[in-house]
Amino acid sequence: MLTIPTPFPVGPVNVYLVKEDDGLTLIDVGPRFEPAQEALQEQLARRGYRLSDVRRIILTHVHSDHCGLAGMLAEESGAEVYSHPANFSLLADYAAERERWLAFYAALMQEAGMPADQVVQVDRLRRGMSRYMTPVRPTGPLKEGDTLPLGGEEWRVLHTPGHSGGLICLYQPQRQLLISSDHLLRDVSSNPIVEPPEQDGRERPRRLAEYLSQLQRVAELPVELALPGHGLFISDVRDLVARRLAFHEERARRVANLLQNGARTAYDLSLHLFPHPDPVNRFLAVSEVIGHLEVLELRGEVVSVVENGVRLWQIGTSPDDGL
Ligand SMILES: [Zn+2]
Repeated sequence: MLTIPTPFPVGPVNVYLVKEDDGLTLIDVGPRFEPAQEALQEQLARRGYRLSDVRRIILTHVHSDHCGLAGMLAEESGAEVYSHPANFSLLADYAAERERWLAFYAALMQEAGMPADQVVQVDRLRRGMSRYMTPVRPTGPLKEGDTLPLGGEEWRVLHTPGHSGGLICLYQPQRQLLISSDHLLRDVSSNPIVEPPEQDGRERPRRLAEYLSQLQRVAELPVELALPGHGLFISDVRDLVARRLAFHEERARRVANLLQNGARTAYDLSLHLFPHPDPVNRFLAVSEVIGHLEVLELRGEVVSVVENGVRLWQIGTSPDDGL
């Protein structure tokens, strides 16, 4: 495991290095960020390798702290790049796909009841994140059920959407090892951020609902040790998943309780749940509240209506249910 610095509050990212007969495989690479590139070079050098020894790059998901350096690294080393197909458009055509995502978030935050000046501020801040990414053209896909030779062992690809729609974990059944990326972190609960549909016009995925079911799936696997995308290894996967599920359940209950006194917007609910002042955290808070509302909606506990372009949530069952 290499520990690569990031400019983000989450702290350093874990990059896993696998020695192969013909060179190295890296699982994630770090952000496009000068200290990250230096750390990667230096930590490879300490083991007797150079960037040009990297033959293969596996990207667990398309967040810049994990994959931002991939373009530079692939160009320098000629390495092949593998990831889940859901990540391909953002990886290969970052500038255009990013615009689509930003337009989606602006419209979503507006509908959630966020004041216009804050929507603009969030957009500006999210736009600034682009500097930590370099586009990279993936060589091939890694999909659910694929097997992947890594360091002479067979690993299984698990597609575990939630934290991000194209997130993959890698599992080695004999040694019961799980490379869990940001699906399961020891010290922080991973935030399944709302994402646009893969194509405009399709139904929007419900990332928190997906995340909760994918957590349960991972807890059912025999796992001796999980190697996460940030922080220390995890030896108590089942207990940790139980704690995460309880945490999200408690948050969902708080959202439902806040609706007991009448209809509210997701933005308004976020002010009650998370009284943080800064815009990025406000965006993340609204996104999380939308996730809880969708989980409650799937259970038939809440419904929403759009009035004057703003979505209001309330306790109740949809008259359309069962159709
Ligand atoms: Zn992530």
